[in-house]
Amino acid sequence: MERIDCLVAGAGPAGMAAAISLARVGARVVVVEKKEIAGNKACGGGLTPRAVRLIRRLKFDAHLGHPVFYLEGNAPPHHYNCFFLKKPALHISRRALFDQSLRDMAQKMGINFVFGTISGASWDGRLFTLKTHCSKALKSPRLIAADGAASRVRRSFGGTIRCHALALMADELKSPGARPRIIFDGGMAPSGYGWVFPYGDGRANAGVYSVADISGGQMRRDLADYLAKRLAEHNPGTITGGAIPWGGYFLPGRVPLILAGDAGGFADPMTGEGIYHALYTGHAAALAALASSPEKARIAYEKSLKSLFANMALLRLICQRAYRLPRQGGRILGLKAVHGPITEGLIRGLNTSAVIGAFPALLLLSLANPSLSHFERRSRLPLDKDI
Ligand SMILES: Cc1cc2nc3c(=O)[nH]c(=O)nc-3n(C[C@H](O)[C@H](O)[C@H](O)COP(=O)(O)OP(=O)(O)OC[C@H]3O[C@@H](n4cnc5c(N)ncnc54)[C@H](O)[C@@H]3O)c2cc1C
Repeated sequence: MERIDCLVAGAGPAGMAAAISLARVGARVVVVEKKEIAGNKACGGGLTPRAVRLIRRLKFDAHLGHPVFYLEGNAPPHHYNCFFLKKPALHISRRALFDQSLRDMAQKMGINFVFGTISGASWDGRLFTLKTHCSKALKSPRLIAADGAASRVRRSFGGTIRCHALALMADELKSPGARPRIIFDGGMAPSGYGWVFPYGDGRANAGVYSVADISGGQMRRDLADYLAKRLAEHNPGTITGGAIPWGGYFLPGRVPLILAGDAGGFADPMTGEGIYHALYTGHAAALAALASSPEKARIAYEKSLKSLFANMALLRLICQRAYRLPRQGGRILGLKAVHGPITEGLIRGLNTSAVIGAFPALLLLSLANPSLSHFERRSRLPLDKDI
């Protein structure tokens, strides 16, 4: 078989960002993926402004779904904060379409895919070996593990992720209101929130997210409660979900393995946003992977993620505490001097640390040329006819 410059495990956003970026610089890359066609994943499909900006900067031909300009940041039943924005607050994409669009792009570029479930990986000091259930072992001096939260590759080397949140959701529900709106309801799960993400075609997904240490059973009850209260939905159909890893990874020894996306624990603990970090770390993995030796590649990769690690450390400090007080959070978010700068920062694709650092400048910006066209505080849950 032809020499492989780099193996990529997993064809989610992290794996595709890595493979496409490697192929663009002429590397021979092979992607190993268990599903021949990207199917539905437990995911809200919410693409933040920073994710959309990154996709455009990397010139990825990705399915972005529907832009939504109207957002609520609530703490029911006490605070309902409704934001009307000049730019999209989020794009909501169906996850299967998003993943497949990246795969189609990779396949058009001639990137090789091997379909099979990875059963293990090893490193002999010179080459990585990737074993799958249905093809013979693949070898390469470089390996990027992008095979998701339960990464088989990471576990083969004794690697662990530091923390995880939990999210459960129902999909293809009837969307509330005449105008598509994104809803975040703080406190609908312990140390977490409930969400509704509209696809813009009368359908939506909705779920609950929690950074607390709670059981799947309790999450199911919270979700059923939330769907009944918020969407009057008592038969939501199939419930999907899983762990959302954050806080980075621990990899024992000096194995020069590169971990990207959920495999490396790179989601945002505040919101559970993982697609942006998957694309970002996948791309960073590709830039580092071709360093002069695999060992240097891992060092270069971890160095390139310094600011991401710093942001995660900050979020680790604030998120669990912040979510314990949803009512206070809802009230504070209703203050113009708070939500104005936060909106400006998020719309410009800044992360939490950058929003805190640039707060005074963002405050001035929010007064001079606000991205918010209208803000309303309501004392009760908005009904469909209000919108
Ligand atoms: C309920 C829920 C809602 C979410 N909503 C959002 C949201 O709205 N916005 C957002 O940004 N993030 C959201 N996330 C997080 C987001 O889905 C993940 O962070 C993101 O998918 C990570 O991308 P990835 O490429 O690292 O991993 P994945 O997308 O998990 O991709 C991993 C790939 O590896 C393949 N694979 C896995 N194991 C093997 C194996 N043994 N052999 C071969 N292939 C394998 C899988 O088939 C898959 O294609 C949500 C998560 C959950 C659980």
